[in-house]
Amino acid sequence: MIKHSITLTNDKPGFWFIVNKGRLYLTSDSQVPQGTLATLAVAVEPEQICWLGDYQQQPCYLVIDHDQIVDESSWHSARSLLTKNEILFQFAARALQVALFLQTHRFCGQCGSAMHLVNWELAALCSKCGHRCYPRIAPCVLVGITRPGQILLARSTRHKAGFFSILAGFVESAETLEQAAVREVKEEVGVDIVNLSYIGSQPWPFPHSLMTGFTADYLSGEIVCQPNEIAEAAWFDLNDLPEVPPAETLSGRIIRQLQQRNMQG
Ligand SMILES: [Zn+2]
Repeated sequence: MIKHSITLTNDKPGFWFIVNKGRLYLTSDSQVPQGTLATLAVAVEPEQICWLGDYQQQPCYLVIDHDQIVDESSWHSARSLLTKNEILFQFAARALQVALFLQTHRFCGQCGSAMHLVNWELAALCSKCGHRCYPRIAPCVLVGITRPGQILLARSTRHKAGFFSILAGFVESAETLEQAAVREVKEEVGVDIVNLSYIGSQPWPFPHSLMTGFTADYLSGEIVCQPNEIAEAAWFDLNDLPEVPPAETLSGRIIRQLQQRNMQG
């Protein structure tokens, strides 16, 4: 079992990110629990706690593997924080990813021995063979493709009818973000793009992605959807879009940015 040591005082208030099976414990008014350890509605052992950073001069703690809270309605996807508070969402993202890391790195993938935590960085180390692991982060590219007045949107086979977004895909080994963007677009809808331009990034803890966003211009090719991945894809008028992701997500932000760019001509 991985141990992580932390010095806690009962009287110091903080934000508590209590994680169980990829879900987050929120109070009845859908807030991250805040206060001292003593005021928490749950009993917490010191070895369950990791410090994540500070927010509003208060420490943010991760509490992992908590199985004492039985009320199912208290456990939420971190998504519910995204529209409320971007900084707390980021801490929640970190909490979920660190919890997953600790849970999945108890034993060495190389020799099978028990691993322990390095005390000066977030890493798990096998003292038998020296294998060292860091929390896994999976980079993913999002590409908003336009041609005059129109945007290419697709519906993933995982999404409900009527919900469309820009194209997305994971970066493969030894690939640049730009190469991944060009390859994914070609694979998923069969078109070629040019003029890739970086927009921004967003941690996405489902379970450990890092979204990176680009815009691109359409170059050539007819839309051909990749079977199993893309249910449908089409060019949409930028002034008349179907249901798309909310503005707090990176894909939603890119779509709105392209709409504004179109309006400004
Ligand atoms: Zn080992």
